[in-house]
Amino acid sequence: MTSTQPIVIVGAGPSGLLLAKYLEQNHVPVVVYESDPHADYRPQGGTLDLHEDTGLLALKETGLLGEARGMMRSEGEAMKVVDKTGKIWLDENVQEELATSNVKDVEQDEEVRGRPEIDRTDLRNLLIRSLSPSTIKWDHKIHSILPLSHSSYQLSFVDKPSITTPYLVGADGAFSLVRPLLHDIQPQYSGISMYELDIPPSNLTSHLEGYIGKGALMMLDEGKAVMPQMNSGRRCKVYLALKVPIDWQRLNPLPEIHEREWLCELFEGWTEEVKEIIMASEEGSIKQRKIYQFDPKLRWETDKTGVTVMGDAAHVMSPFAGEGVNQALADALLLGQTLVPLFTTSASNTSHGQVAPTSQELNEALRTFEKQMMDRARVEMQGSKENMDMFFGEEPARHLAEMLSSFGHGGPASGVMGN
Ligand SMILES: Cc1cc2nc3c(=O)[nH]c(=O)nc-3n(C[C@H](O)[C@H](O)[C@H](O)COP(=O)(O)OP(=O)(O)OC[C@H]3O[C@@H](n4cnc5c(N)ncnc54)[C@H](O)[C@@H]3O)c2cc1C
Repeated sequence: MTSTQPIVIVGAGPSGLLLAKYLEQNHVPVVVYESDPHADYRPQGGTLDLHEDTGLLALKETGLLGEARGMMRSEGEAMKVVDKTGKIWLDENVQEELATSNVKDVEQDEEVRGRPEIDRTDLRNLLIRSLSPSTIKWDHKIHSILPLSHSSYQLSFVDKPSITTPYLVGADGAFSLVRPLLHDIQPQYSGISMYELDIPPSNLTSHLEGYIGKGALMMLDEGKAVMPQMNSGRRCKVYLALKVPIDWQRLNPLPEIHEREWLCELFEGWTEEVKEIIMASEEGSIKQRKIYQFDPKLRWETDKTGVTVMGDAAHVMSPFAGEGVNQALADALLLGQTLVPLFTTSASNTSHGQVAPTSQELNEALRTFEKQMMDRARVEMQGSKENMDMFFGEEPARHLAEMLSSFGHGGPASGVMGN
């Protein structure tokens, strides 16, 4: 029985944190390096819906579902779909019994069902709290990774001493620095650029609150989208999305003043509520982002041992099927289940003994993990791409409403961004 070096995870996002939790609860040494200086350094974005076979299952298997339940909002599942004229194509807010039945699912049953919403910040904080304080090394931004051999990697940090590890997991998001150790394929710009706005509770008029509903409102038309979604505490996150070339935001910069008025002009001719939504947002807090995605056909082969990737680092997809975080959590659970038997002895029930796998064992296990992960994720990458094409194609509101109606609320493929 030997004591092994810790498994090094890069990135304290949902996937890195969940894997760390799984390893820690199974007494496998682990350390997470994260570039953020501390847990509250930046807001984590809007709301996420957790799915039964992936996100919810991962929380259940790490013993976190009970605490997470207290943060979940089943009423947040309600979807409303309108076009630019304000015509309502679907409104689940009026189907009150749906929300009621799903609250029961989450609060009372041992089984995990439904698609409850949780704020991204709440989920991350829950995962952070579940770990030993020393597991996450904040303020450790990797600037380069050098393979010293086929099974040893040197991580260099900004303004910190470098480390070497034989066990490396890239959970460092879409622009992963770990991924190039495995292959050199990069995600591509999806054609969609976004603005992220926040409406504080004090700016949320009763008219606006009634118009948006309890969950997410999708206003879709002309290759554009206005997508407000209710978060906990009556905060509202709004995504504005445009189908534009990659350099459009650079060539059309947000003005330094009157930025909300400028955004309103992008939706000239749309129903008045769009202006009301944008003008209710906080001034000076607008974020811009471009959506990247991998081709669903992505595959790779590698001769490297002891390194793998998961979550967005492995298979970033557009957010239009609401699958990214669920896939990331499912990856972490699967990788944890792959690694724990390799790093613990069967006689470890009482002493939690650790062993180091051979390179061949580790290599075979990681390649099998990657295949299983990608076989599952590829389906969602394709679904996300198809949803995105629908959102920004012809008659999007009608098509989305038809799709949601055909699956039924909470059905297996009814996920869309935040719902
Ligand atoms: C606008 C938008 C809306 C979305 N909506 C949804 C939704 O409704 N439902 C859903 O399921 N998914 C959604 N997603 C996708 C979801 O956010 C991601 O799939 C998920 O966060 C991936 O988790 P992850 O742990 O793989 O990576 P990330 O969450 O990206 O975490 C990566 C971590 O690595 C750290 N890191 C990166 N580089 C370095 C470095 N060099 N050194 C050290 N640390 C580093 C980062 O700081 C970060 O903490 C959305 C995404 C976007 C952009």
